[in-house]
Amino acid sequence: MPGTKQGQKHRRGKLFIVSAPSGTGKTTLCNAIRKRFPELAYSISHTTRPPRKNEVHGRDYYFISSEAFEEKIHAGEWAEWARVHGNHYGTSASQLNTHMEGGRDILLDIDVNGARQIKNRYPESIAFFIMPPSMKSLEERLRNRGTDTEADIEKRLAHAHKEIAERSFYDHEIVNDSIEDAVEEFANLIAGYRENTGTQTASR
Ligand code: ADP
Ligand code: 5GP
Repeated sequence: MPGTKQGQKHRRGKLFIVSAPSGTGKTTLCNAIRKRFPELAYSISHTTRPPRKNEVHGRDYYFISSEAFEEKIHAGEWAEWARVHGNHYGTSASQLNTHMEGGRDILLDIDVNGARQIKNRYPESIAFFIMPPSMKSLEERLRNRGTDTEADIEKRLAHAHKEIAERSFYDHEIVNDSIEDAVEEFANLIAGYRENTGTQTASR
């Protein structure tokens, strides 16, 4: 658990990293957490993947071209970036720094590669791994979501095994079986970290 920083004048925002195999319910969980903690900033990633139906540029992701993404790699603009399921995803360093310097805690929904890079760059960040109750339910969730092609689903399931194999790297593991229980567990953990730095939480 983090040390107490009460009485400190300038408080840097904390980074809460969340990773899970695609289809586990991480977006659903993060949306619930953002409702519980409306003051928590959400890091909006950049991606070269095309938008899904209902996804909005600037709200869910910044959808950019591969060329624009490459340029930002060379310009050193990413706090972390990774290739996931054949597309590039990246977190803007300036976006993170603005929130952190402003004292806002931030939720980052990123993959295992990205989580390792953020932990290296910001060792005080806290990483959560969300597990599906089983591989069968993961597959069902991916299919029921109805947003991915069969080829995409196969790719995501194959990748899930590799991601799960790395879960011991994370500070906390939460199984998303019942969504209500998972939200409760996640919210309690986040509230605990925030209370230890004297931050007011909106969850109680
Ligand atoms: P991810 O962001 O991890 O790819 P989503 O949040 O898009 O996953 O969830 C994948 C699908 O699973 C969605 O259709 C969502 O409604 C459903 N889902 C999420 N959590 C649960 C749960 N605990 N039980 C059953 N279905 C769930
Ligand atoms: P999706 O395409 O389903 O939205 O996301 C696919 C994967 O990319 C998820 O594991 C998600 O956490 C990850 N991801 C989203 N944004 C970023 C990012 O900025 N950096 C990294 N490394 N991974 C990301």
